[in-house]
Amino acid sequence: MIKINHNYKKLQASYLFSDIASRIAEFQKANPETEIIRLGIGDATRALPAACIEAMHRAVDEMGEDETFRGYGPEQGYEFLREKIAKYDYASRDADISAEEIFVSDGAKCDTGNFQELLAPDIRVAVPDPVYPVYVDTNVMAGRTGGFSHGRYENIIYMESTGENNYVPRPPENGADLIYLCFPNNPTGATITRQELEKWVEYARDNKALILYDAAYEAFIREDKIPRSIYEVEGAREVAVEFRSFSKTAGFTGTRCAFTVVPKNCRAFDEKGEPQMLHPMWNRRHSTKFNGVAYPVQRAAEAVYSPEGREQVKAIIADYMENAEIIRKEMENLGFSCSGGLHSPYIWVDAQTDSWELFDMLLKKAGVVCTPGAGFGRCGSTHIRLSAFNSRQNVERAMERIRKAVKEG
Ligand code: PLP
Repeated sequence: MIKINHNYKKLQASYLFSDIASRIAEFQKANPETEIIRLGIGDATRALPAACIEAMHRAVDEMGEDETFRGYGPEQGYEFLREKIAKYDYASRDADISAEEIFVSDGAKCDTGNFQELLAPDIRVAVPDPVYPVYVDTNVMAGRTGGFSHGRYENIIYMESTGENNYVPRPPENGADLIYLCFPNNPTGATITRQELEKWVEYARDNKALILYDAAYEAFIREDKIPRSIYEVEGAREVAVEFRSFSKTAGFTGTRCAFTVVPKNCRAFDEKGEPQMLHPMWNRRHSTKFNGVAYPVQRAAEAVYSPEGREQVKAIIADYMENAEIIRKEMENLGFSCSGGLHSPYIWVDAQTDSWELFDMLLKKAGVVCTPGAGFGRCGSTHIRLSAFNSRQNVERAMERIRKAVKEG
């Protein structure tokens, strides 16, 4: 008899997006003349940088000639891209990462979800709350959790990120083996200081733990002193794996290119407590289950690092960040306490009420859609997430409508 992986039965159906969609549909039916503005989007809205498009065109032309055609590429990614990443993303920040430690992939979602495969089933996993749901669900699928009750899975350590700790959780007292961190954070938009990150690295070293550091929103950091990579902290190479993506950096959400950094001396332990290197294990996994990112896409990603590409990316990010500034300023002027929006495209707004209540108010009175924080975990249930991924015109119109709605009560 063929049997299913019974852990899948523990997974909670995500009603978040279907709930949002049905509330929008109901509102639109009753108010067909209102044009709804979506500030809940977690997807890039600006076109790919011109430098990427030009590089992709050239690469597509190469694929059309026998002499320059490329078939299967290296699973880990082409050297030309890995070298650029090592130079511009790491060496430039004095982070000691070589090209061979970089694995190019088709997404940080897959990589953050897949990496846990390398680790034992009985480890203790710690995740922030609120959280990007992929970290939790993939550990549920792998059988590392118990059932779901009162909004949480058993056997997961939830690290609460609230206004009280500036949305940066402290290391758990009850000992975690695998720790997920994400900075700048989705959904809170919070960043971490170097000193705080140092404490996490120290914790992982002292507890023989591993940190999976999701830096998918690194490009939105605007202050030099905020760490962009965990490898800017001394001692992190042994205890941390880092995930990055071109999705939000350069609008690759539909084009698909990302990378994972596994330093050669990053370790986990075997059943005898002997250190085992994760680099050859991830290399084995990656080359067994993945066949590389398309050549034209890797050429487009490489162009992100060209002089023109870097200027164009900077301009696009600056434009999103102006949106973020407008949103945060306006919400604060209206009396809401906010996090994020300074080094992140997300603004996490303290709703002071159930997140769905503020969602309904903004939809019904302003025709604006946000993301209720409840979808990201228990600690999100009194917050909403507003996103800067939209046109300036839409952001300005949305904020004008929200201002009017809140003032009218
Ligand atoms: N990590 C975080 C925190 C995200 O918010 C997202 C996408 O929204 C991803 C990873 C996924 O990135 P990718 O498009 O590279 O799969």
